[in-house]
Amino acid sequence: MSDSCIIVGASHAGVSLALQLRREGWTAPIKLIGEESELPYHRPPLSKEHLAGKKDLDAMRLRPAKLYADNDIDLLLSTRVNSIDTAAREVQLQSGESLGYQKLALCTGASVREFNPARGLENVFYIRTAADIARLAPHVRKGRRALVIGGGYIGLEAAAVLAQQEVSVSVLEMAERILQRVTSPAMSDYMQRLHESHGVEVHSGVEVESIREEGQEKLICCADGTEFRADFLIVGIGVEANASLALNAGIETGAGIQVNEYCRTSDEHVYAAGDCTVHPSLIYQRSISLESVQNANDQARAAAANICGKEQVYNAVPWFWSDQYSIKLQMAGLNTDYDQVVMRGSAEGGIEASFALFYLKEGVLIAADCVARPKEFMVSKKLIKEGTKIAAEHLQNEEIEPISFVTA
Ligand SMILES: Cc1cc2nc3c(=O)[nH]c(=O)nc-3n(C[C@H](O)[C@H](O)[C@H](O)COP(=O)(O)OP(=O)(O)OC[C@H]3O[C@@H](n4cnc5c(N)ncnc54)[C@H](O)[C@@H]3O)c2cc1C
Repeated sequence: MSDSCIIVGASHAGVSLALQLRREGWTAPIKLIGEESELPYHRPPLSKEHLAGKKDLDAMRLRPAKLYADNDIDLLLSTRVNSIDTAAREVQLQSGESLGYQKLALCTGASVREFNPARGLENVFYIRTAADIARLAPHVRKGRRALVIGGGYIGLEAAAVLAQQEVSVSVLEMAERILQRVTSPAMSDYMQRLHESHGVEVHSGVEVESIREEGQEKLICCADGTEFRADFLIVGIGVEANASLALNAGIETGAGIQVNEYCRTSDEHVYAAGDCTVHPSLIYQRSISLESVQNANDQARAAAANICGKEQVYNAVPWFWSDQYSIKLQMAGLNTDYDQVVMRGSAEGGIEASFALFYLKEGVLIAADCVARPKEFMVSKKLIKEGTKIAAEHLQNEEIEPISFVTA
């Protein structure tokens, strides 16, 4: 057995974990293994500034190359781990080589869900990696027609970028409203109006049945008989955790790799962090999976501490952001199971709007969605963590400064 820590997946979680291991005092070798060829980069700009051509990959690096060397982290890019032998404590690489470990951390992230009607067709794009944007970017040209399948955050961010490049964009969403899985009707309504005011057509409750290629054009036929024509498609219908490596090694998995509050899997020498995990949330009293940079970084830091022998419970308030046109949406907590929504400010005015939606359950703040309301966002994170009861009148009252909610 080697004394190394091997980390599989060199993105937000893997990089944070590797660097935190050194801060926690891990002195043995660290191997950070990733199958992508690029030096690790920030993923969120892919559907924002990078797709818009405003930020190149070199400006998106998570850390400079030198930092890995300075911390004695052996970064192996373009390297895929094919399997794990937990009994021998070894991983097998695609190249056939085996590497031993003392501790293993799985930071394998998630992969896009494929859209069956579009399988095998040309000019159908997904947005998960820098390579995906390299393929898509040449098609983003004035006057072209794009169809975005899926009205979630990534599809809508892409729609916003395309609309600003004078691409004609339609968004097709199967659910009754865009962002249905992640936000309330009030926020969905605001986002729909925002997109429509920028010329994007939004169609909800639409199910694509088939897609035909007619020359360079695609004909999209929906179950209700509606048809759309487009030059290219962007699919954003969610992701699936990359859990097969763990599953095939006999490690417990569900909707992702199951970890406990210490980020440990069912194998005591194997930890996991980031999009690939399902973890217990003490705040929400249930198992959750998250797809956010905050979760990838914070969970990875907790995992690193625990690999180094600490007993650090991971119990962070989830938060997330999305940039569309010139608005920044910031979300704290998980807004499921709420019984009351309180609005502070006004959702009128498109890109000029400034408001927060607070989600309460039995009077306790469990989540907040904020547009141009950074103070409300910051305070909400604190209140959610503390499980604070707060009166709707206080939240609504613009004369009360958000900081006072903490003592209200
Ligand atoms: C377009 C886009 C926009 C986003 N915008 C936001 C945002 O605005 N705010 C926000 O909070 N979050 C956003 N996210 C989500 C955020 O990027 C993810 O939550 C984050 O990347 C998760 O990090 P991770 O390290 O867990 O996984 P990933 O970033 O998915 O990285 C996992 C890595 O592991 C590698 N890997 C997997 N299996 C193997 C293997 N067997 N061998 C070797 N390597 C392997 C993968 O190739 C990948 O590089 C966005 C995501 C995307 C795609």
